[in-house]
Amino acid sequence: MTLIDKCPGTINIRTPTIEIKNCPECGEEVEIFSDEKKATCKCGFTIFNDLQSCIEWCRYAEECIGEEQFRKLKK
Ligand SMILES: [Zn+2]
Repeated sequence: MTLIDKCPGTINIRTPTIEIKNCPECGEEVEIFSDEKKATCKCGFTIFNDLQSCIEWCRYAEECIGEEQFRKLKK
C-alpha cells in the first residue's frame, strides 16, 4: 500500500474543483478553487475557503501534495 496514493484528505488539492460561495458583503457568487485558500470578490471582500485539510497536521502532507503546493498552502 502506498500511503501517498491513498491519502483521502488531499483529493481536493490534487484534483482541484470549483466551489461557489456567496460573498457575505454583497451577496455576489464567488468562485473559489478547492486548492486555493481564499478568493477575492468583485467588491473587494476576501473570502476564505473553509478547507479543512490534513496538510495542517499530516507529516506526510509535503510528500503527498508536492512541495510546491504544500508551501503555497502553508503560507
Ligand atoms: Zn462581494
